[in-house]
Amino acid sequence: MYSTLFLQEISAEWQELYQAALEARNRAYAPYSRYQVGAAIRCRSGAIYTGCNIENASFGLTVCAERVAAWHAVSAGERDLVRLAVVTADGSAPCGACRQVLAEFAPELAIMLADVSGNARITDLRALLPDAFILKR
Ligand SMILES: [Zn+2]
Repeated sequence: MYSTLFLQEISAEWQELYQAALEARNRAYAPYSRYQVGAAIRCRSGAIYTGCNIENASFGLTVCAERVAAWHAVSAGERDLVRLAVVTADGSAPCGACRQVLAEFAPELAIMLADVSGNARITDLRALLPDAFILKR
């Protein structure tokens, strides 16, 4: 589906986004799973919005880093999301709920999945969420 790259092989723009996601990961509130996730979204304006996962004792209220980053951007007035970097311990992809939330704003979003050692994969939301549910307006 996609090959693994080392961070050095990735463009400066992706590297900047990776760094922002890595720093956001340090702010994760994950006392239950201990699985920290950082996300960073670059918007068409050039601005970067970050998010981290925020868990709750009532587990169903936990929110993923990707959704926090998307809501951070949208609440700042940005709706043109261009790139997303996600950094985890193992380079995992966003969950299904986050994929659907991202599709609302950017069905073709470019996505980098990376681990904390700088191993990365580049993909996009169409590959991760084919035939997304999108209302025609
Ligand atoms: Zn998620």
